[in-house]
Amino acid sequence: MIFESILPPTDIPGYDIPTFFMNTSRMNLEQPDTPAYYDLATGKNISFSQLYLLYKQVASGLINNLDIEPGDVVAVFSSNSIYYAPAFFGIIAAGAVCCTVSSMFKEGELQYQMEDSKAKVLFVGSKQAHIARAAMEQGLLKIAAEKIVILDDQDYWGFKSFGKILSDQSFEPLLFNNPERSAKTLAVIVYSSGTTGFPKGVMLSHRNIVAYTVLSATMFAFVQSKDGVEEKTQRSLAMLPFAHIYRLTSLVTNSVAGAKTQYILNDFSIEKFLHYLEKHRIETASVVPTVLNQLVRFRDISKYDLSALKVLGSGGAALPDGTHGDVRRKFPVSTGNGYGMSETCSGVCLMSNFEFIAGSVGFLFPGMQAKIIDPETGRALGPEQQGELCLRGPTIMMGYLGRPEETAKTIDAEGFLHTGDMAYIKKTGHVFITERIKELIKYKGLQVPPAELESILMKHDGVVDAAVIGVHDKVRGTEAPRAFVVTAGAADKGESEQLAGELIAWVSSRVADHKKLRGGIEFVDAIPRNPSGKILHRQLRLQYNAKHGTK
Ligand code: AMP
Repeated sequence: MIFESILPPTDIPGYDIPTFFMNTSRMNLEQPDTPAYYDLATGKNISFSQLYLLYKQVASGLINNLDIEPGDVVAVFSSNSIYYAPAFFGIIAAGAVCCTVSSMFKEGELQYQMEDSKAKVLFVGSKQAHIARAAMEQGLLKIAAEKIVILDDQDYWGFKSFGKILSDQSFEPLLFNNPERSAKTLAVIVYSSGTTGFPKGVMLSHRNIVAYTVLSATMFAFVQSKDGVEEKTQRSLAMLPFAHIYRLTSLVTNSVAGAKTQYILNDFSIEKFLHYLEKHRIETASVVPTVLNQLVRFRDISKYDLSALKVLGSGGAALPDGTHGDVRRKFPVSTGNGYGMSETCSGVCLMSNFEFIAGSVGFLFPGMQAKIIDPETGRALGPEQQGELCLRGPTIMMGYLGRPEETAKTIDAEGFLHTGDMAYIKKTGHVFITERIKELIKYKGLQVPPAELESILMKHDGVVDAAVIGVHDKVRGTEAPRAFVVTAGAADKGESEQLAGELIAWVSSRVADHKKLRGGIEFVDAIPRNPSGKILHRQLRLQYNAKHGTK
C-alpha cells in the first residue's frame, strides 16, 4: 500500500534556484533596508538589497577570478554568517555546486570532504580559518591557498577576504526554466552517512530545493492557519547550522515566504536564546529536541517576554513523547515536530497542534508518498503495521556522489528511498517513527557516523577491534556515541582505565566536538559480526539496552 499526503500535490516551477529565489522573493525589495541576516553577536547585518547584489558579485567573482566552471564544486566551511547566503546563491548562480562542510570539523574531516567532493574552491568562515591553515600546513588540502577565500570582511591567516574576489554586479544569472533540467542539474551536496558506512555526498538538484521550498511553504501555511498563526512571520532565529540540510533550506524558504530576517546565533546558551527571542521579538525558532527539553525545564522562563513568538519547531532527531506535549502546554504557539533526512532534502513530515498526537511526526508533505515495508522480505505493509519507512517524491535526492552502488541500495526501482527508520502510519495519516535500524547516531541532531569513529579507534596500537553505537545520555537528553573495544591482551583495572582515557583523547583530537565518545568506552572480548564480517550494531544496541534497562 502507498500512503499519500493529506494535501493535494503542488506545482513545482522548473527554474534554477537563484532565478526561483529572485522571482519569488522580490517583495523583499519593497523593504530594501530590512536585514536579511543579522548577526546577534556582532550586530553586523546585510539587507535584502545587499544580498541581491552580493550574490551576483560572488557568482561573477568565482567565474572571473577563481576560474570556476559550470558543474565545479565549491565547498563552504563556516559557522552561520551573514555571508553564507550570498556565498550559497553566488556559487549556484555561477552554475557551480555548493558543498557544505560542518563548521565544527577538524582537519582530517575537512580533508575527507574536500577530496570526496573534489571541491575546487573553499569558502572558510573566520572562526574556521585556523583549521583550514593547519590542514594546508599538514598537506591535507589539494587546492592552492589562492583558492581559499575567507567569508568575512577581513583577511585571515594569509587567505583572501570575501570582498577581494567579488566581481561584476550586473551579472545576470538566469540558468534555465526547464523542469527536466532542473531535476537533472546538481546544485547542492550535503554529507550524510545514510544507512551505513562513511559520510557520503547527498546530491540535491535544483528541483529538489525548489520543490522543498514550495512543498514546505504549502504545508506550513496549512498547519499554521489551523494553529491560529494568521500572518507570515517576519523574524526567525537561525541557530542550527546552515551546513546541515535542516537549516540550509531556510536560505531559500525564509525569504520566499516573506521578508523574514534571520537572526544568527552561533554560541547557544538557554539564557542567550531567551534573551534574543525577547529583545528582537523573534516569531519563529527552529531548534533540536535537546533545546526544547531545556526550555520546558527552565525555571526562570517567566522573566522573559516571549509574546512575539508564534512558531516553535523541532527536528533533526526524535522528540521525546512527553516533550512536545509539555511545549504545547507551556507555550501557546504553533509547535512543530518535523521529520526528514539529508537524503529527502530536509523535512517530509510535520506534526503541529493540528490533529496533534503525542509521539507522532505528523503528516506527509504534499506530493510525498510513503511505503512501509517488512525489512526482511521487502513486502509492503498496511496502516498501523510497523516496518521500514520508504519515501518517494520530488525532494528525494539524485543519489550519492560517485557511489552508484550505494545509491541503488538506498533508492529502489520504484523510486522509493529506504530511510533506515522504522515507522507505522495510522489510517488518519499520522506517521510514527519507532526506531532507527541504520547505524547512524544523532548527537543533539548532528550526525555521528559509527564507521568513522571505528576506523579512528582501529588506528590506535592498543585496539584489535572496535564498534560504536548510540546510547541514551540521560543528562544531556540525547544519544551519545559509545565504543566497544577489543584489546590485545588481558589488562588490569588500572591499565584499562588508562587506555580508556587515552582512546577518548585519541578520538577527541581527531573529530568534531559532537562526535566525541561522550557515551564512554567498554572493553569486551569480541565484537558481534555477521558471517561476512559486518558489525552487528543493532544487536550490540539491544544487548546494551537490555543490560542497562534503557531504550
Ligand atoms: P539527517 O540526515 O542528519 O537529517 O538525519 C536524518 C535522520 O535523523 C532520520 O533518518 C532519523 O533517523 C532522524 N530524525 C530526524 N528527524 C526526526 C524526528 N522528528 N523524529 C525521529 N527521528 C528523526
